[in-house]
Amino acid sequence: MEKIVFRHQEIETLPLPQLKELQRQKLQKTVEAALKTPFYKKRLNDAGIRDARDIQTEADFRKIPYTTKHDLREAFPYGMLAADKADVVRMHASSGTTGVPTVVYLTQADLDKAAELNARSCACTGSTKNDVFQNMMTYGLFTGGLMLHYGAERLGMMVIPSGSGNTKRQLQLMKDFRTTVVHATPSYLLHMYDVMKEEGFRPEDFALKKAYIGAEPHSEDIRKKIEMLYGIDAYNSYGLSEMNGPGLAFECVYKNGMHLWEDYYIGEIINPETLQPLSDGERGELVLTILERNGMPILRYRTRDLTRFIPEPCPCGRTHRRLERMTGRSDDMLIINGVNVFPSQIEEVIMKMPEIGNNYLIRVQKQGPLDKLTVKVEVTSSVFTDDTRDLENLQKRIQSNLQAVVFIRPAVELHEPGALPVSQGKAVRVIDERKES
Ligand code: ADP
Ligand code: ZN
Repeated sequence: MEKIVFRHQEIETLPLPQLKELQRQKLQKTVEAALKTPFYKKRLNDAGIRDARDIQTEADFRKIPYTTKHDLREAFPYGMLAADKADVVRMHASSGTTGVPTVVYLTQADLDKAAELNARSCACTGSTKNDVFQNMMTYGLFTGGLMLHYGAERLGMMVIPSGSGNTKRQLQLMKDFRTTVVHATPSYLLHMYDVMKEEGFRPEDFALKKAYIGAEPHSEDIRKKIEMLYGIDAYNSYGLSEMNGPGLAFECVYKNGMHLWEDYYIGEIINPETLQPLSDGERGELVLTILERNGMPILRYRTRDLTRFIPEPCPCGRTHRRLERMTGRSDDMLIINGVNVFPSQIEEVIMKMPEIGNNYLIRVQKQGPLDKLTVKVEVTSSVFTDDTRDLENLQKRIQSNLQAVVFIRPAVELHEPGALPVSQGKAVRVIDERKES
């Protein structure tokens, strides 16, 4: 195990009670700033909150109504802007997985803070100024590219801002500049491995040690697969554009859950149906408050992401609590003939089967009054050259394994390696055609 290196040791190991006190102080300033925006002035006043000093205790904090993506759209374009427009130096927008994009505004101080948190996140995985960092995330409106870019520079790594796509060039850059750390979506790294083989690159062409993987849900088996294929360590990174993207929660060298940087964010877990807070260790929807963001404060934001706090302390010594890998979003659940199915359950089953390759797709259609679920998987090339009876057997095994977990028996299609579409950004894993019909 590598030596634990802290970038902000005092803050990263601050005992939890002191961390909470720090949050309380910063929250007052945050509420004060929020009250200056038309959106929060109304929202907070309606809830009986007229002054930041009204928020003293945890119970006071819970009186603050939740903010949703819908609210962000309603407040478009400037309803939540807290700074003078002249002091805003950047805007970002979400990738719009679930609808119209939402916008955030940042001042120079906000960007500096975000860069520090991203530098801390990189340092937390053991990266140093000696590393070469190739950033394969999309640059632009999406926070994934630029935010980690500035953090990696702040740490002193040499950054290759390759952006997403153009896989052959990515591989050539990795080879020529001896890249040691990459940042990409897990689905893209799986795809890149196939291209690496096709193009005849060999493992010794590269000096890769680590991958930061995030921006989309993925199972532990996907992480292991990436680690095994490339012979590296893969670290989970969680972020969303409303909360500045990456640098929010990141895994340390122990790779056992993502430290939420609690000096800058307040995290809560709630029951997504009753909206009541859950206790430590229970699984539910993550709600986040960003502290000290001058451009655009957001209070108690419902992320829709399902996770829990891991109650046990992390062996690295950081006191900031860890979030467990996201198991999906409260809004990505599919209801198929009345049965609740999460895409993550399907992924877990198929990624455990060695015959299945690196890409899959879930399709839901209407078939008369019923719903039809089809799981399309790419198989490994060795399987595809074999006997058709073996393929039929494999198909049946996949069906049974899926049925044991999701309680319905889906249709299963086997495809050749590389046959299913690959996205350059976040992977599109579910096509639900019922809404259109
Ligand atoms: P959106 O996709 O909602 O338009 P973003 O581009 O900001 O907005 O994406 C943020 C979302 O991506 C998160 O809310 C979460 O659902 C997903 N996500 C990001 N990182 C991870 C991760 N490491 N694991 C699982 N899901 C993630
Ligand atoms: Zn740790």
